[in-house]
Amino acid sequence: MKNIKDPNKFVHDISQWYQENKRDLPFRKTQDPYHIWISEIMAQQTQMDSLIPYYQRFIKRFPNVAVLAGADISEVLSLWEGLGYYRRAHHIHESAQIIKRDFKGVFPSTLKDIKALKGVGDYTAAAIHAIAYDQPSVAIDGNVMRVMSRILLYDEDIRKTTAKRAVTQILEPLIKLAEPSVFTQALMELGALVCKKIPDCEACPMQNHCFAYKQNNVMAYPKISKLKPKTLETYITFVLYHRHHYLLITRPKDGLLGGLLAFPQYQTYDFDRAYQKFKADFKLPDFKFESLGIMRHVFTHKIWVMQVYACEITKPLEAMVNFETKTNAISTAHKKIFSLIKSK
Ligand code: SF4
Repeated sequence: MKNIKDPNKFVHDISQWYQENKRDLPFRKTQDPYHIWISEIMAQQTQMDSLIPYYQRFIKRFPNVAVLAGADISEVLSLWEGLGYYRRAHHIHESAQIIKRDFKGVFPSTLKDIKALKGVGDYTAAAIHAIAYDQPSVAIDGNVMRVMSRILLYDEDIRKTTAKRAVTQILEPLIKLAEPSVFTQALMELGALVCKKIPDCEACPMQNHCFAYKQNNVMAYPKISKLKPKTLETYITFVLYHRHHYLLITRPKDGLLGGLLAFPQYQTYDFDRAYQKFKADFKLPDFKFESLGIMRHVFTHKIWVMQVYACEITKPLEAMVNFETKTNAISTAHKKIFSLIKSK
């Protein structure tokens, strides 16, 4: 791995480029750590363009830690609906209560205290510390890793923890020469706008610093090991409904899609087995279900393949949820099922 030849110029070039080219994002208008925190958590698994309306709605409804801490989790989940990875919403809500209880409602300012919040890992803690408090903490996400692996000709697998350590060691002295808030966002922005998977090197302010560019070898970086294949889970999913009323369950809080509404489903290929279990679980009489087809949903580590069966009944059951007045969110994996019902 190479090193940065002229650290001062490196910091100057990327910072200046950022000041002149940064996107006009709502959370860039503030250094409020609460706002930066929410935006960073939302950005963990969501594209920037998609998260902006969610961020704006969220901040409007929960403008500070105190309001969020006092809110009901069902309302938090409801504003999160569609963003996916709902564990993030639970973590934000729990963390707001921790901040209220342990920090008198003031967002923590040390790296250690920020990292102690739920759902905040090394990257997010360092990003909040650098962006909101202008402290020299190095935040390395996938974008930054891609940029730096090209600039430095980093030949190891960037998924390894040693890669993060190696790049952190290079960036630590650099961030001390910079305005940490600007430098941190500049690296992220360069990865998002210019040094993308297919980089736009001709528009890049860092050509003179980039060894992969100088060697005309940018597409050979970053080096990435193959991910383990996703596991496939097959379900029989039941949609029992009357007009806007649906038989739904609330998924267990600690599991996948925890706390969200979902259609009852059973992990099996066997309709009869699933149907008997479904009837017993909900103490139902016999209903005539018809197959609506197959729906897939891809998570980070697994794929659900759902064989969906539906039955419309003539009057609602007491246990059914009125979809027009519900306050809880339904999982995106199951929201898709409505398209099958509509096309029935
Ligand atoms: S010159 Fe190309 S490869 Fe190097 S940092 Fe810029 S965009 Fe990335």
